[in-house]
Amino acid sequence: MTDATLMDKIVAVCKRRGFIFQSSEIYGGLSGAWDYGPMGAELKRNVKAAWWQSVVHFRDDVMGLDSSILMHPTTWKASGHTDNFTDVLVDCRKCKRRFRQDHLKGKCPNCGGTEFTEPRAFNLMLKTSVGAMEDSSSVVYLRPETAQGIFVNFTNVIDATHRKLPFGIAQIGKSFRNEITPGNFTFRTREFEQMEIEYFCRPEDAATKYEEWIKARYQWYLDLGIRKENLKLRVHDKDELAHYAAGCTDVEYEFPFGLSELEGIANRGDYDLKQHAQFSGKDLMYHDPVTNEKFYPHVIEPSGGCDRGTLAFLVDAYHEEMVNDQTRVVMKFHPKLAPIKVAILPLLKKNEGIVALAKKLKSELQKDIVCVYDDSAAIGKLYRRQDEVGTVFCVTVDVQSLEDKQVTVRDRDTMKQERVSVDQLHKYLKDRL
Ligand code: ATP
Repeated sequence: MTDATLMDKIVAVCKRRGFIFQSSEIYGGLSGAWDYGPMGAELKRNVKAAWWQSVVHFRDDVMGLDSSILMHPTTWKASGHTDNFTDVLVDCRKCKRRFRQDHLKGKCPNCGGTEFTEPRAFNLMLKTSVGAMEDSSSVVYLRPETAQGIFVNFTNVIDATHRKLPFGIAQIGKSFRNEITPGNFTFRTREFEQMEIEYFCRPEDAATKYEEWIKARYQWYLDLGIRKENLKLRVHDKDELAHYAAGCTDVEYEFPFGLSELEGIANRGDYDLKQHAQFSGKDLMYHDPVTNEKFYPHVIEPSGGCDRGTLAFLVDAYHEEMVNDQTRVVMKFHPKLAPIKVAILPLLKKNEGIVALAKKLKSELQKDIVCVYDDSAAIGKLYRRQDEVGTVFCVTVDVQSLEDKQVTVRDRDTMKQERVSVDQLHKYLKDRL
């Protein structure tokens, strides 16, 4: 299978099974925007929950935040986005198409033309206005990253929690960028969700904390089932770094369209807090209660894309297997990420006893296991559907179940079937999920 075919197949299964749809498809779609369907919404929630659990709940030193998308416009002056968040663009003189200069390899990818306009800087922030007047005084931006919401709340969080260094603030939220060339499915879009942490520490600890976060973030993807051979770390060269940054390492995934960034972990020095202190006139220094020192903490920033991560989990989970001369498509998600953990399938939908038992099992299990009931097709077809959405276990209720109080549990990956007693079912599933 070529890589292009693989990507087409993944896009197709995403549409067929309700993971991802094109945005506003009935109107011809909107480029650079996608919608998550019933399965995609569950998958993405699970990705975000796994991240939050790992970086907030399972640690003692990171707290959550949920800041607003619209912020005071000076935020973006201070962060440098108003002046520097630009792509350099050129237009092909022949076909008039516009390209990012750093993506061009000499010729126009559209028409092969070789003459281009002078490069121009194009700001990627999406602008809107608040209030009834559309004058410049009411201009605001849809945030291009969630990070600045964390920096501007630095002292609020300290005042409210009395935290001492080192500590981090994490948040998940929508960001917007007017990307010139959105593409590769949900990899590059104009609206996306980020999962970001700003980890504040003493300057002398920054190098160690930077290394710790690189390890922790790399391991997170492996723990959730990404195959090691598909995951790489790329250390940025000195000339790629922002002038204030001491280092940056990307976690990259081997997508069918090439090795590409999932997340960046940056050692940002004290740049951000200093900038906001200067532009706001507020004291954003850390005051050490023991030593009485005042200084700007240094910051480690692990910044990942939720949609890119979700796409990597989708690609990595996709498997095709030959079973009885037929191709079985199965999404081998880590149980934690699988949109549905258990499907309850009655073998005969017209048998009242079977249906009643199956529905009873569903209503008992659903209290703490995400499960579905489905009787809308023959069992072979039901299994195929569940495999394609990555449901970890299928539980079938048959005539025999009414007598021996046992059901058949089928494992998604091995397809092995086991009879399990109805009383033990909840424990059996919990132990394996
Ligand atoms: P790229 O070089 O791919 O444009 P970036 O280095 O500008 O990305 P950052 O500004 O570091 O990205 O943003 C952090 C993370 O946010 C990225 O690693 C990525 O996962 C996600 N992200 C950034 N831009 C987009 C986008 N247009 N669509 C989807 N996710 C994005």
